[in-house]
Amino acid sequence: MRISKLVSKTQREIPNEADTPSHQLLLRAGMISQVAAGMYNYLPLAWRSLRKIENIIRDEMDLAGGQEVFMPTLQPIELWQKSGRDQAFGTTLPALTTTDRRERVLVLGPTHEEVVTDIVAHYVRSYRDLPVNIYQLQNKFRDEPRPRAGLIRAREFIMLDAYSFDKDQAGLDSVYQRMLTAFANMYARCGLKSIPVEADSGAIGGKDSHEFMLPAETGEDTVITCPKCGYAANAEKAVFAKSKAGEPQTIPLPLEEIATPGKKAIEEVATFLGVSAVQTLKAVFYVADGEFIFVVIRGDLPVNEIKLAHALKVKELRLATQAEVTEQNITAGFASPIGLKGIKVVADDSVPAAANLVTGGNKPDTHIKNANYGRDFRADVVADIALAKAGDICTRCGTGLQAVRGIEVGHIFKLGTLYSEKLGAYFTDESGNPQVITMGCYGIGLGRLLAAAVEQNHDEKGIVWPASIAPYQVHLCALFIDEPKVIETAEKLYNELTTAGIEVLYDDRAESPGVKFNDADLLGMPLRITISPRNLEKNSVEVKWRTEKKAQLLPLDGITGAIKGMLNRK
Ligand SMILES: [Zn+2]
Repeated sequence: MRISKLVSKTQREIPNEADTPSHQLLLRAGMISQVAAGMYNYLPLAWRSLRKIENIIRDEMDLAGGQEVFMPTLQPIELWQKSGRDQAFGTTLPALTTTDRRERVLVLGPTHEEVVTDIVAHYVRSYRDLPVNIYQLQNKFRDEPRPRAGLIRAREFIMLDAYSFDKDQAGLDSVYQRMLTAFANMYARCGLKSIPVEADSGAIGGKDSHEFMLPAETGEDTVITCPKCGYAANAEKAVFAKSKAGEPQTIPLPLEEIATPGKKAIEEVATFLGVSAVQTLKAVFYVADGEFIFVVIRGDLPVNEIKLAHALKVKELRLATQAEVTEQNITAGFASPIGLKGIKVVADDSVPAAANLVTGGNKPDTHIKNANYGRDFRADVVADIALAKAGDICTRCGTGLQAVRGIEVGHIFKLGTLYSEKLGAYFTDESGNPQVITMGCYGIGLGRLLAAAVEQNHDEKGIVWPASIAPYQVHLCALFIDEPKVIETAEKLYNELTTAGIEVLYDDRAESPGVKFNDADLLGMPLRITISPRNLEKNSVEVKWRTEKKAQLLPLDGITGAIKGMLNRK
């Protein structure tokens, strides 16, 4: 490909709307362009990378026994009503529905569980037809409230979605392991480091689930890992050992009211009373599906809203406003569950395990010492609702946990029989009895993976593509093309390399060496070849890996073979 003919252009300035490295670099490299918020064009260079990722994915899915299909993006709402997900998707789905000329409601599919289960319900009859593993590469739509970071959180995106159908849980467990391995292979073949972590299943339902995280500083997820036993989980789901509060005081002491003028925050109260935050009880107020909720948790622990929503089995959860708190006659900053009536209370499991905690006095400038769960107050729900963070203790081995930022680039779920029951996907077992099919689903956002690859592989000059997903393998720079010897050699080498099956991006423009080198670094192809009058005097060309600082001179004679050898060894 000649850069002079390439439809896109590089740009020097950092685009205003881009705040993450991948968004900035993909725009500056002319690989993507924005159509509207969360909607992007993949220009030729990005599309080449994406096709390479797709090929790796197809290869691994086929190896794992997958059959590729293509399902429509437009889906009838009836399928979503059958699964009940027209409700479970909250406000996201209605925004993506449309009505056809016959007044039928259609959905721009955010996923395809319903459609694929419907296929299997039609074609799978007996246990002999199972297992089945189906996948597709398809466009998906999510009406994200906050599209951000370019391809990381877009509203339309290309996804691998794969679905497994088995006779029973044992079949699902086995295909799940196979897909876990296939996913790990895909990232490795794309030249990317990934961590599989235990994850929350969210709106999609199901029990076990894993996410694949690409470690990157700009990631919006936090992964909690144990450096000793290998435990890894999304912070949304991570568990940790909650040490006993302060001194192990097991004998409940009498309640004691104490003046704490102006001390509201946990740290202020703890310092004022000379106790640690571990010995305090924190009250936090939420509104869950419209109901006011009083949450109590040990003072040193943050609330994990995902765990809280699960404990309450609600769809929508948010912090209560000051006005809503006042409306409940609660004295903010001095609230306590003692004597509370008519409000649902949720306690973290750290609370019953602790003794003699400091809590609010239910009136201004007052706290109460020695509050004890069971004797002084109770909760309607007791559950683990605490957020894990670096330094917390691993429940498996007692080691201090670590936190790394990551970008979620894949998510797999054991769905079980959730969809097959609702959509009528049954089979006849060996004894002739009808049984419900057991499902799993497996997804990768391809655009997000492309962007995450850039987040993980770039420097201050530009992108550093892993060789297997680089748009081109070689960036050929011809310097001073008005010199006949240069342009002749460059054209000849371009043809030779291309004929030899090497992918070459050829900078044949009449630009200065500075501009050409800057663009080569920004675009980030693995190997740069430079043809200049000076090197031609020595009958040589300059060759440089994008990952290395130093260039080397290679004889022009036999250069194509030499380049081929270098690329094969990479
Ligand atoms: Zn551990």
